[in-house]
Amino acid sequence: MIEKCRLAAAEFSGLEILNQSTITAAVSKMDSLRITRLIVTDSSGKAIFDSSNQSTDAYIFLPEVVTALESKNVFSWNYHDGLMYSRAATPLYSFGKLAGCVYMTELDAQQGELIKSLQYNVLSITMVLELVVIVFSLAFANAFSIRLRRILSSMRIIREGEYSHKVAMGGNDELTLLGEEFNDLTDRLQASENRRRQFVSDASHELKTPLASIKLLSDSILQNEMSMDTVHEFVEDIGKEADRLNRMSQKLLNLSRTESVEDDVGEIVYMAPTVQRVVLMLDAIAQENKIRIETDLTQDSPILILEDDLYQIAFNLVENGIKYNIPGGVLKIRLLQEDDMGVLQVEDSGVGIPSEALEHIFERFYRVDKARSRKSGGSGLGLAIVRSMVQRNGGEISVESNMGIGSTFTVRFPAFDLDKVNE
Ligand code: ADP
Repeated sequence: MIEKCRLAAAEFSGLEILNQSTITAAVSKMDSLRITRLIVTDSSGKAIFDSSNQSTDAYIFLPEVVTALESKNVFSWNYHDGLMYSRAATPLYSFGKLAGCVYMTELDAQQGELIKSLQYNVLSITMVLELVVIVFSLAFANAFSIRLRRILSSMRIIREGEYSHKVAMGGNDELTLLGEEFNDLTDRLQASENRRRQFVSDASHELKTPLASIKLLSDSILQNEMSMDTVHEFVEDIGKEADRLNRMSQKLLNLSRTESVEDDVGEIVYMAPTVQRVVLMLDAIAQENKIRIETDLTQDSPILILEDDLYQIAFNLVENGIKYNIPGGVLKIRLLQEDDMGVLQVEDSGVGIPSEALEHIFERFYRVDKARSRKSGGSGLGLAIVRSMVQRNGGEISVESNMGIGSTFTVRFPAFDLDKVNE
């Protein structure tokens, strides 16, 4: 279109005079022009020629004309009702000077048809795409909500106490991760529920035995004619059983306190003075059982711990070392420094622990030899308390044992570098 405009401008610039008749003559020679309207203006924008036969001498204020009179070529188009309407304007020079401009318009039905079908195609594709997006979104939302509902219904099942229930989530997305976390949580709930049930059944079983003895003894006193001496002996036994119940409930309280209170802050202490106190306390019982206690507390380290816990840990280990020893046996208590650890070791020359029992002795109420443990006032809670206290103070405990030779309990705590603390 702009080319046609230029051609016409070149044609007109050869004319000596630019007016209606000279341009009409020139236009009639250009039969290949095929345009809708042609306007030629002078340099002030006044029409010299207008193919629409409107009266000339009118000023043409079309934007294309204004631009062309600024010596610029201009082309624009728009589409309306199946027709493409294009406009072009180009400056017209005569003898090297700007003499006006040539402005053309063209209504093209063919191009318009092309645009119309293009428009239709784009619309159809857009609609198909939108439909696909909607179908996919619905399918995705549906799949998402099915999986979410699966988690929700699993939650309800778990709420009813069915901790063994697992949610099955296929795929590899965030919901799968959520499902895995959920299953992990229910595993933990299940484990904790099992522990709780085990504890309740163990505790009631343990409490039942002394209660049954008390009942039996008191029934015997009431039902039988017996001498004062026997009655005295029975009442003494009742007292012993009551003491055992008392000790057990104290230990249970102690254990549950240790397991529930976790944020007590410890202090930095050397281990030797506390261990020394324990030895002093239990020395009389050791002598009674003909056990010799040997201590080597020279390699002491400062550790961060609740001092009461350290006392209880050492007490239970030393007490066991005496209880499960043999008359004439030895109990060696030593402190060691290993790497960055402060170590407390209690080694006895006692009965030893069978290897299959080693992994159980820290469990609540577990006793290798029930009769022996009961005779010495044991409840199967001492080592459970020790392990719980060691762990809450950031330490670890291990045991080695040989049947008939003895057992060694080793407790390790991170040692504190006092130089660093003082810096
Ligand atoms: P208890 O009150 O029965 O002593 P503990 O928790 O202290 O309970 O110990 C659990 C069991 O581990 C004991 O019943 C005993 O069989 C065994 N045990 C603990 N310490 C020793 C030891 N030093 N030598 C041999 N056996 C031990």
